[in-house]
Amino acid sequence: MSIAQNLQEVKTACQPLTLVAVSKFHPAALVQEAYDAGQRIFGESRVQELLEKQQCLPQDIAWHFIGHLQPNKVKYIAPFISLIHAIDTPKLLAEVNKQGAKCGRVIPVLLQLHIATEETKFGFSPDELDAYLASLQWREYTNVQISGIMCMASNVEDEAQIAAEFDKAHQYFLHAKALYFKDSPDFATCSWGMSGDFPIAMQHGSTMVRVGTRIFGAR
Ligand SMILES: *Cc1c(COP(=O)(O)O)cnc(C)c1O
Repeated sequence: MSIAQNLQEVKTACQPLTLVAVSKFHPAALVQEAYDAGQRIFGESRVQELLEKQQCLPQDIAWHFIGHLQPNKVKYIAPFISLIHAIDTPKLLAEVNKQGAKCGRVIPVLLQLHIATEETKFGFSPDELDAYLASLQWREYTNVQISGIMCMASNVEDEAQIAAEFDKAHQYFLHAKALYFKDSPDFATCSWGMSGDFPIAMQHGSTMVRVGTRIFGAR
C-alpha cells in the first residue's frame, strides 16, 4: 500500500474528525508524499527533527508538536508551531506564553490529561489539572490560547478499558468547559486516538486523531 492509499483510508475512516498525520522518525520525503496526496497537518515529537523538516518542506504545512516538550526548547518552535498538544506542567505553559509574546503570536495549546494506568506517561492528573485551573494563573496569559484537552489511553488490548479512559477524558473536557471555558469557543478540541485506537476514540468524544503507523508504516 502506498502512503497516498493509506492516507485516503485513514481519512475516510476518521471523518469528520481532524487528522494529524504523525510523521515522527520518518524522512521528509515521506512527509512530502502525504503532502502531495493532500495532507496538510503533521505531528512531530522531537524539536530537532521538526526543525529540520519544517525548513525543507512546504511552508503551508500546519505543524503540531505532539510529544513531551522541554520548556527550554519552546523558543525554537514558537515562531511557527500551529498547535502544542501536550502541555503537562504550569511551567511549560508559562514558557509557551513567554515565547509567544516574544514572537508576537498567540500559540494554540492543549492540556495533557494523564488518565492511562502507565506511570510512564506524562500529563496532569485530573486533580492536578483541577487545582491548576482553579488557580486562574493561566488567565493572565495573553499569548497562549487554551484550545482543549489531549490524552493517550493505556497501551492495552482491552477495548473496554480504552473506551473508559477516553470517556473519562471527555467528561473532564466537559467539566473544564463548563467551569472555565464556557465563553471560549476556541476551547473545543479533544485530541485522542492513535493508529491502534482511533476508531474507539471516535466513539468517545475525540475531535482530533493523531495517526502515524497506519499512514507511514512501522517506525
Ligand atoms: C507516536 C505518537 C502517535 C502516533 O502513534 P501511532 O501508533 O503510530 O499512530 C500519536 N500520539 C503521540 C503523542 C505519539 O507520540
